[in-house]
Amino acid sequence: MTSLPVIPVDPDAPGRRPAMPPRHLADLDLPGRKALVTELGEPAFRARQISHHYFGRLVRDPAEMTDLPAASRDRLAGALLPRLLTPVRELACDDGATRKALWRLHDGSLVESVLMGYPDRVTVCISSQAGCGMACPFCATGQAGLTRNLSAAEIVDQAVYLAGVAASGAVAGSPPRLSHVVFMGMGEPLANYSRVVTAIRRLVAPAPEGLGLSQRHITVSTVGLVPAIRRLASEDLSVTLALSLHAPDDELRDELVPVNQRWKVAEVLDAAWDYAATTGRRVSIEYAMIKDVNDQPWRADLLGRLLAGRSAHVNLIPLNPTPGSRWDASAKPVEREFVRRLRESGVSTTVRDTRGREIDGACGQLAAAGDSDSEAPRGARPGVAVRDQET
Ligand code: SF4
Repeated sequence: MTSLPVIPVDPDAPGRRPAMPPRHLADLDLPGRKALVTELGEPAFRARQISHHYFGRLVRDPAEMTDLPAASRDRLAGALLPRLLTPVRELACDDGATRKALWRLHDGSLVESVLMGYPDRVTVCISSQAGCGMACPFCATGQAGLTRNLSAAEIVDQAVYLAGVAASGAVAGSPPRLSHVVFMGMGEPLANYSRVVTAIRRLVAPAPEGLGLSQRHITVSTVGLVPAIRRLASEDLSVTLALSLHAPDDELRDELVPVNQRWKVAEVLDAAWDYAATTGRRVSIEYAMIKDVNDQPWRADLLGRLLAGRSAHVNLIPLNPTPGSRWDASAKPVEREFVRRLRESGVSTTVRDTRGREIDGACGQLAAAGDSDSEAPRGARPGVAVRDQET
């Protein structure tokens, strides 16, 4: 068995701190915006006005904020609305119900987000880091390593942009209002803890302070950073925790999810159950089905024993393989048997409907494809879609 090191990367460490973007209004709460606006010599109510444009009307271009006097508009835009995301590529599939955006950040880093429309909801999947330091060997992003943490505003701006796309009616057959956000794009959200929590607070604060989403409609995924899971439980937020388990035994999980070498399966599940008890939210257990790697019947039975009687739901994710990868998706009969065994153990289980496959719709794949200078190896990661599908 290969033993992969956990990369002890702290992009914020002194001496290697990467260039973060300029401050943006989404980095600040409303009192902070008022203080800044006042410092600029503008009346405090301008903070509410500009916030209403951004979060309430989903307008990101200062030129469209025509009720602001021109001189004030330039000053406020310079201080509060720097351009954070430059679109590089936007792709659609599933008859336009899935839209993937690739962005270039101010320092040239590439990140991606996905908008997914369903008859009853609109979900965006957003990135929390440029790259990822968790080194999961089956994941394209993990192979390229971590570039830097995103700022809170860079995270929020992905959701605001795509909420605007949904509001324009571009996703036929879906409601026009963004309702759900999942932190399942590039990066390990809990490795960028404070900015991700700030971003969540902006997403759930009512307009004009924030986007006004329900906390229950926000999902934060993690590979299992135990201290951060415990900290999140103490935040007075009732967001859903999605734990990317991928193996029920330490021997395999040490390989598939290298952070397991630090926090073992039992420890990470303990933290997840404590999270469920504190927040009242059922934990989502994410399990990528990888052919002949983690899909054996005995592993289904072991997983069933670990989860039986717990406040958990299993999402099995058919792996989205990329050309040249040694990882492949499990065969459908194998997947069905895995589901059957879990359900027999009394564990609620669904198989994820994977969206966006034809547009490289898995984490990191579009970024790797979109950067022509990049030699980033392309691996495979579970598809990004988040609607469960009964088998
Ligand atoms: S699967 Fe997630 S945590 Fe693992 S390397 Fe990829 S982006 Fe990072």
